[in-house]
Amino acid sequence: MKIFDEHHEMFRQAVRAFVQKEIEPHVEEWEEAGQIPKSIWPRMGELGFLGVEYDEKYGGAGADVLTTAVLCEEMARARCASLAMAVGVHTDMASPHLYWTGSEALKERYLPAICRGEALTAIAVTEPGGGSDVAAIRTRAVRDGDHYVLNGSKMFITNGVMADLYFVAARIQDGSPSPQGGEGSKRHRGISMFLVERSTPGFSVSRKLDKMGNRASDTAELAFQDMRVPAENLLGQEGGGFYEVMRVFQRERLVAGLHAVAGCERALEDTIAYVQQRQAFDGPLSGKQVIRHRIADLATLIEAGRWLTYAACLKFRDREDAVKEISMVKLFTAEMAQKVAYECVQLHGGYGYMREYPIERFFRDIRLMTIGGGTSEIMKEIIAKQMAL
Ligand SMILES: Cc1cc2nc3c(=O)[nH]c(=O)nc-3n(C[C@H](O)[C@H](O)[C@H](O)COP(=O)(O)OP(=O)(O)OC[C@H]3O[C@@H](n4cnc5c(N)ncnc54)[C@H](O)[C@@H]3O)c2cc1C
Repeated sequence: MKIFDEHHEMFRQAVRAFVQKEIEPHVEEWEEAGQIPKSIWPRMGELGFLGVEYDEKYGGAGADVLTTAVLCEEMARARCASLAMAVGVHTDMASPHLYWTGSEALKERYLPAICRGEALTAIAVTEPGGGSDVAAIRTRAVRDGDHYVLNGSKMFITNGVMADLYFVAARIQDGSPSPQGGEGSKRHRGISMFLVERSTPGFSVSRKLDKMGNRASDTAELAFQDMRVPAENLLGQEGGGFYEVMRVFQRERLVAGLHAVAGCERALEDTIAYVQQRQAFDGPLSGKQVIRHRIADLATLIEAGRWLTYAACLKFRDREDAVKEISMVKLFTAEMAQKVAYECVQLHGGYGYMREYPIERFFRDIRLMTIGGGTSEIMKEIIAKQMAL
């Protein structure tokens, strides 16, 4: 079965050519430097890779979610999870807040620069005190004339060091103590999203975080001290932020599934090439039945992940409720990727532990999958809730 048409495949060829020529030769250097060069963004904008689903009047391509799926797959095949994640955050996790809930004036002002790669975006929801419980965020916003004044801090923010625009979740302060209660309660209804320019007085990057993997992707802790944000930069309705975060999470988790499957596919290809040339006990490793069976198991697992993800993509494209399916995609592919990474390193033997082999980086990078964008435990909670358990 095919889900991509000839336009998607042409787009795939364009992204793949870019990745092979302009990404893959530099991955080691970027990982070593702990930074993707900022010049990559206008280049990707020039090629039309940023904001593919946005309306053409804002500089987008007006394409469908399957075009985004192609972009995700090809970026994840680049053996550079750092860039795949940074791009995913810009196009599918941060800027959708503007596209879906921003005023026309805000969209006209910022989206063209986002699509051209001149304004890099970040999404700032998680805080030092917690990430899974989004409704518990403590960053406060107080209305003061034609501004909101924000105070608080954010943790683990991808693109956080380099970004120009931040989509920030904050609780509108009304003087009452921190509210309790289940979904739909004041705890959830009190959160709003704001578009914050980096140059806003009171905004600062407290520190760049040092990570296990995805080392070329910058991750920051942010601080807001009496940060005055123009009232027109409120996105959507005051108090609607929690529901918008949950809505954009669906896209983020689908993208995570696409990244996991394509990254695993590439890792398995590398592993197959390795076991075919590695000699042991009078022949190639691939000649041993136990090795072939392990590879067959991994290929089957990845194929299952792929079709679970594609099925959810189609539901999402058709605007059907896909919360359960997308949560299953995030859970299954993230856990699958841990097994694939473990087995692929094992099949490389000692070389799998060496920095010079891409599988070593894959093993470190992929660990994030069961944590970022909603942990496996939280996915199980959502699935169980969707099943009315
Ligand atoms: C590299 C990286 C990049 C990131 N990028 C961003 C970003 O750009 N923007 C952003 O806003 N956030 C970002 N995050 C944050 C990420 O989404 C959170 O780390 C994640 O949601 C988990 O939150 P936490 O780290 O606070 O863990 P916690 O919520 O403290 O959870 C700790 C553990 O407890 C478990 N747990 C929590 N609650 C329950 C429960 N009810 N039942 C069972 N188990 C539970 C969790 O599953 C987890 O295993 C990033 C994180 C990393 C590591």
